[in-house]
Amino acid sequence: MDAYDVIVIGSGAGGGTLVRQLAPSGKRILLVERGDWLPREPQNWLARDVFVDNRYVSEDTWYDGDGKPFQPQVHYCVGGATKLYGAALYRLRKEDFGELRHHDGISPAWPIDYDEMEPYYTRAEQLYQVHGARGEDPTEPPASAPYPFPAVSHEPRIQQLADDLAAAGHQPFHAPCGVMLNEGDMPHSACVRCSTCDGFPCLVHAKSDAEVLGVRPALEHTNVTLLTNARAVRLETNDAGTAVTGVVVERDGARETHSADIVVVSCGAANSAKLLLASASEAHPHGLANGSDQVGRNYMFHNCVAVLALSKEPNPTVFQKTLGLNDFYFGTDDVDYPLGNVQMVGKSSAEMYRGEKPIQTRLAPEWTLEKVARHAVDFWLSTEDLPVPENRVSLSADGSVTLAYRATNDVPKKRLLHELKSLLKHLGMQHDHLLPRHAYLKNDIPVAGCAHQAGTCRFGHDPADSVLNTDCRAHELDNLYVVDTSFFPSIGAVNPALTAMANAVRVGDHLLERMGVPQSRPEHAHVG
Ligand SMILES: Cc1cc2nc3c(=O)[nH]c(=O)nc-3n(C[C@H](O)[C@H](O)[C@H](O)COP(=O)(O)OP(=O)(O)OC[C@H]3O[C@@H](n4cnc5c(N)ncnc54)[C@H](O)[C@@H]3O)c2cc1C
Ligand code: SF4
Repeated sequence: MDAYDVIVIGSGAGGGTLVRQLAPSGKRILLVERGDWLPREPQNWLARDVFVDNRYVSEDTWYDGDGKPFQPQVHYCVGGATKLYGAALYRLRKEDFGELRHHDGISPAWPIDYDEMEPYYTRAEQLYQVHGARGEDPTEPPASAPYPFPAVSHEPRIQQLADDLAAAGHQPFHAPCGVMLNEGDMPHSACVRCSTCDGFPCLVHAKSDAEVLGVRPALEHTNVTLLTNARAVRLETNDAGTAVTGVVVERDGARETHSADIVVVSCGAANSAKLLLASASEAHPHGLANGSDQVGRNYMFHNCVAVLALSKEPNPTVFQKTLGLNDFYFGTDDVDYPLGNVQMVGKSSAEMYRGEKPIQTRLAPEWTLEKVARHAVDFWLSTEDLPVPENRVSLSADGSVTLAYRATNDVPKKRLLHELKSLLKHLGMQHDHLLPRHAYLKNDIPVAGCAHQAGTCRFGHDPADSVLNTDCRAHELDNLYVVDTSFFPSIGAVNPALTAMANAVRVGDHLLERMGVPQSRPEHAHVG
């Protein structure tokens, strides 16, 4: 058995960021990742391989609340889901940290307020090299520093969309984006501005993901060790159940146990809950840290819809994800409940539509798939999904994840779609077509599209209704932390990764203090 100062389980947005934050401390750190390095290969950028054949999706089988099996869209690799993400790196709104009344109920307040998180958002934006422009988005929370890099420019069709939205009285903004693009010096830019970004791995390692900007720079420190293809299957504790004493890992067909003074779980919301539930013992009969029966509950993943509008003029945009619209985030003049966020998704291609019946049947015969792709403008709408205790992860008889889930806030989701639809005639689009994009969202099986999963181990002041305290340490154990999106008590309506990264920086500061290490900032990453 090897002994470490810190073991971090999972190398995605939470774990990868935390390890980078802790690496300069000189402490002995073990990063345990169940996946491998994601291969760099031509298929990284091939739509058929990535979207149709699910080349990088895990082979897991999960079960829904009725016991029906499905393949979840989860990604097990160094960097976790960030390897495939769209790198839209939003802060939650200041109001998201307070209690908000929604159509279907209350979005609860966080135990810390926005001002407490703000410095960590700023540091996470620097760490992940976010490009953006302050002062355009009317719902933007206050920030103590400008974005570290200028906003990614709109291509002409999206600039036209921004101008048309502004002419219709709206306030579109440049979306915050984690791509290492240097438009002023393209010959030296890591990012080549391609069309295969959102939902694809970046072949040239220019996306600000947790492998490139978290794990790789952390491994430049000899005190950090990474185990790949190493799945944590159980956490063992002392007899009293007050501290984790061993992390049991399956690797190369065998089991091994590692120990550390501090253990941090960051497997993604569903898998972190699974690991804690699978670690039940005499001292924790219902699962580790689960005296409150909260582990696995309040699973959220946004009530999203991906839609395609048809531009009257062709849309030759390559990198489309540069525009956002939050004018309906908190409601409209007629609607006094929040609706959510509108943003662009990666430009769709004919290859991605294969098998998408609604597109093929509703537009045929005038529209070939190639013509649809030439005119498509792709939007992503997300409405907040409320925490519901019955929406939960539990273990099925064979130990795999069961995910019982019922959507909330369907009325605001439809209303947001209606708002976008009623704008189309002002935006140079065919006003009668706004088609759902099933392949992008995987929403033919709603629970399978778990890209934005969060909740399951929420943080709070009261051990009776939360799993973690405000430092993200389990109320019931002295040395167990959780830093993935599990800690979210509510999810807001913007993408979650930057909040997980900022929180990992915050928890990192706490851990450095706990270990008596002077605070240090990670040095600049060597990318390329
Ligand atoms: C296609 C796609 C697009 C997205 N686009 C955006 C976007 O534009 N903006 C945004 O903010 N968010 C986006 N997201 C969501 C974002 O990627 C996630 O919110 C974020 O990565 C969650 O971080 P995490 O640390 O909770 O989990 P993850 O990043 O998933 O990391 C969990 C890690 O734990 C590992 N693991 C799991 N179980 C075990 C185990 N038992 N032992 C060891 N290791 C384990 C996994 O392999 C993985 O590496 C997107 C996600 C997807 C899939
Ligand atoms: S080169 Fe740029 S646009 Fe293309 S995948 Fe990489 S980060 Fe995204």
